[in-house]
Amino acid sequence: MADFKVTELDEDLDFDSLAYWDVVIIGAGPAGLAASLTTAHRGLTTLVIEAKDKPGGQPQFLYADKKIVDIPGFPDGISGEQLSERTYRQAVDALVQFRFNDELVAIEDTDQQEKGEQLKRVVTRDGEYLCRKVLIACGLLHFPRKLPVLDALESKSVFYKVPKIGDYDGQQVVVVGGGDSALDAAVMALERSAKVDVVVREDVPVGKADSVDRVRQSGGTIHLSTEVASAEYQGGAIALTLTDGTQLTADYVVVQIGFLSAKETFLRLDVRLNDDGSIAVDPYFETSRRGIFAIGDVHGDIKLITVAWAEGIQAAIYAFKEITSPYWLNEKRLRDQKLTMIGEKITQAARVKASS
Ligand SMILES: Cc1cc2nc3c(=O)[nH]c(=O)nc-3n(C[C@H](O)[C@H](O)[C@H](O)COP(=O)(O)OP(=O)(O)OC[C@H]3O[C@@H](n4cnc5c(N)ncnc54)[C@H](O)[C@@H]3O)c2cc1C
Repeated sequence: MADFKVTELDEDLDFDSLAYWDVVIIGAGPAGLAASLTTAHRGLTTLVIEAKDKPGGQPQFLYADKKIVDIPGFPDGISGEQLSERTYRQAVDALVQFRFNDELVAIEDTDQQEKGEQLKRVVTRDGEYLCRKVLIACGLLHFPRKLPVLDALESKSVFYKVPKIGDYDGQQVVVVGGGDSALDAAVMALERSAKVDVVVREDVPVGKADSVDRVRQSGGTIHLSTEVASAEYQGGAIALTLTDGTQLTADYVVVQIGFLSAKETFLRLDVRLNDDGSIAVDPYFETSRRGIFAIGDVHGDIKLITVAWAEGIQAAIYAFKEITSPYWLNEKRLRDQKLTMIGEKITQAARVKASS
């Protein structure tokens, strides 16, 4: 029996025949999973739509084997994969429903009213879902940027995410990229006694200086101001020639050169964006479109799992309050109303002053 009193959803509820969902969440990364637990624990029917075939977001897809050491309560660290599995299990136990391998296309307003609220229609590649609230938790990073010269090899030894540690134990690994993800990958491979070369286009890697030091101290070689000019199979390995003439041989190549951003998706949502293209939100994580919230990496400066969790939980509770409290008890709406009244008073005072 949990200490936290949850309003359980009925296990026998036929989710497939719901006329509409209370909440639809886009993305099953840390923000989406934390939000989904929170709404389902409060008895709201919750659907999560995830583009990939598994939940977890970046910790699952980009650094499944990395030991994450900054999550409170895990003094010995926890891998991205374990953390994702645990959070997902918690969501499934709370009766959150998932649709994998499907992607958000648009969010439309409808004329349909339910309990005083205008429903939204979430349009995905494979379906349509009516709902009361939408939480956008699709992160900023979507598909990894590819390197054509390596992509052309169509090799199973070229990775755009960090492969399982055991896969390259003691092998020759070339990491392409100079950001934190590339340096993290290099450190992980070095820790598994791989021989590691890092190919960096810039004259100084853009990743953290201490990560650069860790690569060098662990025996990795960093090649600066150079790029992969050509690549071909040689025996069972891949032979790489860099633009400065250096020749490298690799059992595995890990390419970490950034991501194609999800910002295209944001443009389609017709919500106000910040100057950097991220989604603008108010202090309640609501976007410029009422009833649509944005949480996690899709906005804001601090990109951390715990921050994504916290935002997901807060937005979920605000959405819950809107669904369950009448207008006059809703602190956000009251605040908005107060601000409008103050604004009107200031405008009126200015008008009076101008005319006197
Ligand atoms: C290499 C690396 C190491 C990191 N290490 C740490 C660390 O040690 N500690 C830490 O706290 N943070 C770390 N971070 C940051 C952390 O992973 C992110 O801040 C966090 O994952 C953000 O969570 P999110 O749910 O907002 O987004 P994401 O994790 O990006 O999840 C978004 C999900 O939405 C899905 N999606 C995207 N578009 C759509 C769509 N149109 N329709 C449906 N689904 C969609 C994606 O497939 C994904 O599953 C690291 C990041 C990187 C890149």
